Amino acid sequence: METEQLEIRCDDCGATLTMPAHRFAAVCPFCASPSVVDRPAGESSARREPPDFILGFVIDRAEAERRVKAWIGRSRFFAPSALKQAKVHSVEGIYLPVWLYGCIAHSQYEARIGEDYTTTESYTTTDSKGRTVHRTRTVTKTEWRELSGTHASYVLDVLVTASKGLDNAELETIEPFDLRAMRRYDPAIVSGWAAEEATLSRDEGHELARSEALEFIEDRIEDFLPGDSSSLQHFDSRLSSEDTDLVLLPIWVFAARYGPNAESLRILINGQTGEVQGKVPRSIVKIVAGSLLGLLAVALIFLLGLFALGVIGSFL
Ligand SMILES: [Zn+2]
Repeated sequence: METEQLEIRCDDCGATLTMPAHRFAAVCPFCASPSVVDRPAGESSARREPPDFILGFVIDRAEAERRVKAWIGRSRFFAPSALKQAKVHSVEGIYLPVWLYGCIAHSQYEARIGEDYTTTESYTTTDSKGRTVHRTRTVTKTEWRELSGTHASYVLDVLVTASKGLDNAELETIEPFDLRAMRRYDPAIVSGWAAEEATLSRDEGHELARSEALEFIEDRIEDFLPGDSSSLQHFDSRLSSEDTDLVLLPIWVFAARYGPNAESLRILINGQTGEVQGKVPRSIVKIVAGSLLGLLAVALIFLLGLFALGVIGSFL
């Protein structure tokens, strides 16, 4: 049976999601912002690209909640009080769109290659009785030479975000995903789940993925260079057989707002491996209290601590 899906857009983080009607939320499941709007049906269907592949959920809701609780527990002491009261049951399973990129790279490079050699040199010094003596010692030196050549490599499985609501750096914190479990996209798999649609175009994804691929190629060439030491001066890559597919990845998201300025907090769980990542903003009061406990141990340091707190105080 087909579940009825609603479309929402978050004015705050830019995420655009389809959600099962019974799970409709008044806050964005991505950033907990209340600025979600119903999107008129059909507004986007014309430009929307269907995903090519999908990776299913392995971690279920109960397991995701258990892992988030344990994770918050571990960072509890420094966590803002509001976080402890945050309701962990608001964990939401979302299919996140990413671009999956691969290519073949043919590169030309110029490098400097260092070969170490040892040599004996003589030197003069004074001995324990103050007499001038001549001695020899072995020293290691490096001879540098220029090397240029070609290098070919396959670049596989570069994943970059296709979502405006979640940047690449945050996606990387819950990678890797085992892409061998990937299947052809079938709408039946996402039925009943929230799914975000790609808000970064294929071209934008391509550009992001290419720069990631070039970093990867640079590392590969550096690993490949001979010598005791080497330095890659320049490389130029021609990319061919480029392939960019839209893939949906399973993630559990815990989003909360707290504090007077409604700072947002997001914890992500890899829906395949269960890896939990998030940034807990540290409460300043607790950091100061924490350092005070340490300072009490040594009176001298405690006095320095008071001085330090005076300095901090003057900034507050
Ligand atoms: Zn949002």
